[in-house]
Amino acid sequence: MIAADTPLGERVTVLAEEHGGRYPFGNSLLVRGDEESAVIDPSLVLHAREPRGRPRVDRVLLSHCHEDHLAGLHLYPGARVHVHEADLPGLGSLDGMMAIYGMQGPAEATFREALVRDFHWVERSDAAPLRDGDVVDLGGCRVRVVHAPGHTRGHCVFAIEPDEVVYLGDIELTGFGPYYGDAWSSLEDFEHSLAMVREIDARWYATFHHVGVLEGRPAFLERLDRFAAMIGDRERRLLAFLAEPRDLDEIVRHRFVYRPGDAVPWADAVERRSMSQHVDRLLAAGRLDEIEPGRWRATRG
Ligand SMILES: [Zn+2]
Repeated sequence: MIAADTPLGERVTVLAEEHGGRYPFGNSLLVRGDEESAVIDPSLVLHAREPRGRPRVDRVLLSHCHEDHLAGLHLYPGARVHVHEADLPGLGSLDGMMAIYGMQGPAEATFREALVRDFHWVERSDAAPLRDGDVVDLGGCRVRVVHAPGHTRGHCVFAIEPDEVVYLGDIELTGFGPYYGDAWSSLEDFEHSLAMVREIDARWYATFHHVGVLEGRPAFLERLDRFAAMIGDRERRLLAFLAEPRDLDEIVRHRFVYRPGDAVPWADAVERRSMSQHVDRLLAAGRLDEIEPGRWRATRG
């Protein structure tokens, strides 16, 4: 855990995060070039600081449009904002932001309020689109955009030179495993992105949540492989559960992403969206039989 603003090199600083990066908090990065400076994923940490403790920046870069990553965006009305073009609707309107999650019913109304009240969501229709391979040049310091979708459609990681930092956003490397439970998430895209980021060489691997910053490739690979293995783990447990015929409601109640009893109000919806993607691909691979509509059993042998 990082207890004070921590430089990773001459240009990049991790802003102090007394909550250890646990949701709804998270690690924000300050990047200083010779000509301009930028904050990456301004979190609630910035909102909680005294105004004089907040860095002044010319640009805000978002790894993706999720509430915890933009909770400090409202502090920078004059800064140029960048997010991948696929996630731009999240800054265009509150409806656009809500579409990313795909919530329904009372949860939708509750979360829509929380976005504004607790996460200080502000419209930024002026945000500039990022695309894979773009380089944001801050003067003597460059941020290269690597599109890494799956968590959201527009999720990106940022490679920052010359400090040899890769900012991984919500490829968060935690024991929870990859999160692909929103309307705009994709299990298969997430898997491709995990394979792709594995090839990125850096000295520092920074994550938004409580794993924080890892130094060196061996530490990164060890965490990344464990993180990625959670996908196969969920799939194996699902296949074992489907030794008996079950439907999606039973799968949701059993819990594969969250643990039974985890008090997360959106757990059922996330289980449903996550695990239905596993069901779909197991069906396509001939690993499941649909014994009646919406009821499956693992194939034998
Ligand atoms: Zn996220």
